[in-house]
Amino acid sequence: MKFVDEYRNAALAKQYARAIAKRVTQPWTIMEICGGQTHSIVKYGIDELLPPEITLIHGPGCPVCVTPIRLIDQAIAIAALPDVIFCSFGDMLRVPGTQKDLLTVKAAGGDVRIVYSPLDCLKLAQANPDKQVVFFAVGFETTAPATAMAAYQAYQQEIENFSMVVSHVLVPPAMEALLSSPDCLVQGFLAAGHVCTVMGYAEYEPIAQKYQVPVIVTGFEPIDILQGIYLCVKQLEARQAFCENQYTRSVQPKGNLTAQQLLQEVFEVVPRQWRGIGEISGSGLGLREKYAKIDALKRFYPLNYSSPESGCSPCISGQIMLGHKKPHDCPAFGTLCKPEHPLGAPMVSSEGACAAYYRYRSQLIAS
Ligand code: SF4
Repeated sequence: MKFVDEYRNAALAKQYARAIAKRVTQPWTIMEICGGQTHSIVKYGIDELLPPEITLIHGPGCPVCVTPIRLIDQAIAIAALPDVIFCSFGDMLRVPGTQKDLLTVKAAGGDVRIVYSPLDCLKLAQANPDKQVVFFAVGFETTAPATAMAAYQAYQQEIENFSMVVSHVLVPPAMEALLSSPDCLVQGFLAAGHVCTVMGYAEYEPIAQKYQVPVIVTGFEPIDILQGIYLCVKQLEARQAFCENQYTRSVQPKGNLTAQQLLQEVFEVVPRQWRGIGEISGSGLGLREKYAKIDALKRFYPLNYSSPESGCSPCISGQIMLGHKKPHDCPAFGTLCKPEHPLGAPMVSSEGACAAYYRYRSQLIAS
C-alpha cells in the first residue's frame, strides 16, 4: 500500500540502523513523545535494531494515561446518572478510576457508548431530546479540533442536551516541564507528527534553543522513526539543537490554520493536572466562557464536586511517562496488572507504553 509499505521496508530499516551506528560516538538518550510511536518502536523492535549507545525512553504522549483520576471519577459519576448517554472513545472505558471504570457503569445498566467522533454525539443528542448526551473529550492537539467542532456546532444549532467533560492537553508545555526537571534524562525529542500536522512546529524551535535539545517532528511508521532518530543523532553529534521536520508528507511548518482558528474560537489555555506527573501550567485546553453551557462538570456539578487524587499504589506510570522507568520495571507488570485487570491507564490505552510491552515483549513478564 502506497505510503505504508515503503515505510515498513525491512532492508531500508537496517540501512538506517547502520547509518545511525556509523554516526554515533557516545551514549545518547532520546524520548519519543507519542504513545503511537512507542507502540511502533516496541512492535517492530526498532530499539533492538539500534546501537547500544542509543537509549529510547517513552514520553507522556498518551492522553488517556495522563487524564487525572479525579476527572475519571467525575466522568464515571456522570455516566451513572439516569437519563445520561455517556459517550467516549473506546480505550477510555477500561481506565480505572478510584473504585471502578466506565465499563463497570455500563455493565450495571448505565448508557455508556463508544463513539468514533464527537460529532456522533450531536446526532445522538438530536435523536434523544429527553436524554443528556455527554462526551468525554480526551486527547492532545490532534483530536481537539473535532471536539471544538462539536462544541461549535452545538452552540450554533442550540443543541441544549449536549455537553462535554474536557480533558485536552498540549504537548509543548509537557516537554518544557520534562526539560525543566533536575533529573531530566532527555537529550533529544521525537515530536509527535500528528500533533504537528494540526499545530505546525513553530512552538518547538524556542524549546530546542532554550534547552539545547534537538526536536525532530517524526511520523509513526518504522522508517519514519528511524529517520527521526538518525536526524536527532546527527544533530546531537554535531552539538546542534534545532527543530527539524522528518514527517514532511504530513506536516507543514504552520500546520492546519483552519483547525487552529477553531481551537482558538472554542478553547482557552488553562493549567492541567497530568496523572502521575502533577499540574503543568498552560498545558490544557478549557472551554471559553461563551461555551460554558456545554461544560458537563458545570452542568452536573455546580457545587464543584471533587474526589481525592489517588492512584493505584503499585502503579509507576508517572515515572514511566517521565522516562525514568520502563514498563517491565513496574513490579505489577504482567502479574497484578494485565489488560484484563489493569491497575493503571497505560495498560489499557491503545497508546499506553505498558500495553505495548505487554503485547509485544511478553518475554519480559516475570514467570
Ligand atoms: S504495569 Fe500497570 S501498574 Fe505498572 S505502571 Fe503499567 S499500568 Fe501502572
